[in-house]
Amino acid sequence: MDMNATPQSGQRVPFGTRPGLATVTWFHRKPEHSNQHCLYCGEFVGVGSVVESDKEHLINRRIAAPGLMADPKAFNFIFRACKRCNREKAEIEDHISAVTLLTSPGREDPLIDAVACAKAAASFDRRRGQPVGQVRHEFKVAMGPFTFGMIAGAQVEPDAIRLLAFRHVQGIFSLCTSLDPRRSETTRLLSGDRFGFFSAYSYRDWGNPKLLEIARRAHGYVRLAEFTTADGFFRAALRPGPEGDPWFWALEWNQNYRIVGWIGDPFTPPAPFQDLPPLTWHRISPTDRIREEAPLPENAEDLLFDPVAS
Ligand SMILES: [Zn+2]
Repeated sequence: MDMNATPQSGQRVPFGTRPGLATVTWFHRKPEHSNQHCLYCGEFVGVGSVVESDKEHLINRRIAAPGLMADPKAFNFIFRACKRCNREKAEIEDHISAVTLLTSPGREDPLIDAVACAKAAASFDRRRGQPVGQVRHEFKVAMGPFTFGMIAGAQVEPDAIRLLAFRHVQGIFSLCTSLDPRRSETTRLLSGDRFGFFSAYSYRDWGNPKLLEIARRAHGYVRLAEFTTADGFFRAALRPGPEGDPWFWALEWNQNYRIVGWIGDPFTPPAPFQDLPPLTWHRISPTDRIREEAPLPENAEDLLFDPVAS
């Protein structure tokens, strides 16, 4: 097992941009035929392990809109994970899925809209103790001599976004770099001290100058994994940096949140991603600031993910 692997480029490419890619399964009911380590925490879950483990879907129906599981051809990645990680991920998926779907442009589709409403009613905002669909954040904004109230809907906790993104990237990383997950020596895991995270942006802000520049700089990288699944409600990219530079990754959840980061020193963005254009914030009170969001222009080329092949 290689917990702190520095990724190298030029490794095998298990899947590309084709839609309808077959699901990859590392799970077997017999531990000796499954992956030997939980891909999330690294615990040994092979034969003789005292750690309880079970089947994990990297892209769970909790995070993506329906259709994913209905389509047997939709790509997914199934493996053995320890029960603790499995349960923890399921909880944050439930919360993030409810919020991202509730505010997703995908709700124009009546089917998606119905699911979004059902999820919002069923999922609880832990901090507020209310269903996600009923949460309203009220806050006061002072501008010059005026004070006015604003109301926002449920929001995803930043720590939850970061953790779920980490889990997704861990799964994709192990899938792409492990030669044989049934043996510890040929299993590669991504540990938290190699996980760099820029930020998450809602679809209303996909055109902000910082995200556009990140996408532009990562555009020329080699595609190790690049896929769209779950009826377009889950997208991912994993790209090794040129000449041993840190890798780049990107995720998109429910056609709403785009999350970007790198694999390398988590405290310092790698050289190719330094000096990014700053985002302009306006202070509206001693504790609050706001920023004008920038959607991706209608006809602009989307450089973050490759177009979906038809
Ligand atoms: Zn685990």
